[in-house]
Amino acid sequence: MKAIVLFGSPGSGKGTQAKLLTQCLDVPHISTGDMLRDRIRRGVARSAVVAVMQTGALVSDEVVNGLVEERLTQPDATEGFILDGYPRTQAQADHLCRWLDGRGIREVVIYLAVDYNVVIARLTGRRQCPRCGTLYNIVSKPPREDMLCDLDGETLVIREDDRESVIRERLEAYERQTRPVLEFLHSAGRRVIEVDASTDPPDKVFQKICRAMECNDCSEDGR
Ligand code: ADP
Repeated sequence: MKAIVLFGSPGSGKGTQAKLLTQCLDVPHISTGDMLRDRIRRGVARSAVVAVMQTGALVSDEVVNGLVEERLTQPDATEGFILDGYPRTQAQADHLCRWLDGRGIREVVIYLAVDYNVVIARLTGRRQCPRCGTLYNIVSKPPREDMLCDLDGETLVIREDDRESVIRERLEAYERQTRPVLEFLHSAGRRVIEVDASTDPPDKVFQKICRAMECNDCSEDGR
């Protein structure tokens, strides 16, 4: 069972690392942010959820716990999963730990540690292709042609929750509600691996994660 929890502030690179891990471990990438945005796109999210996400605050534990629990019981998650952006509160962590313990699943938490100023630079420079979802950064990963997606030529946009006031609220929510969860996981004796993800490019961070997990599946792949 490959049960991985990616933990870190907004802009720490959880989504990028989750994509690399999901390719090499062949288990699904479960991002609560993506799941919530998908529900909004399909018009099935409650209006309270839409409003909360627009401000950058956290959606209620009840909603998120329900979504994740349902997702974890899908057939493609029986061999494992990579959780990205969950748990983000004490109540979510309690819920997840109970769920995992009840099934005898031993997860590994990977904490992507990133300097605060790096996070700000990454988040304010982030641009996304509205068609295929590819992420760029005007400083660290610009598209080949000015503001156009490398893959499909679509004009890149700033994600609604990457606007500056929203970024501030997301970081505050992280400090207030999510960072303490790391302490909780430590003191509850869960396996937590810290990886410095401030300066290295994504593939180097990925190598560090694989090394730290002694992840044979990844190293055999030559990564
Ligand atoms: P980031 O990690 O860059 O903030 P995400 O895509 O993970 O971006 O999350 C976007 C938004 O979705 C959050 O600001 C929050 O409103 C909501 N969200 C995502 N995951 C959770 C969660 N586990 N609990 C509550 N709200 C969440």
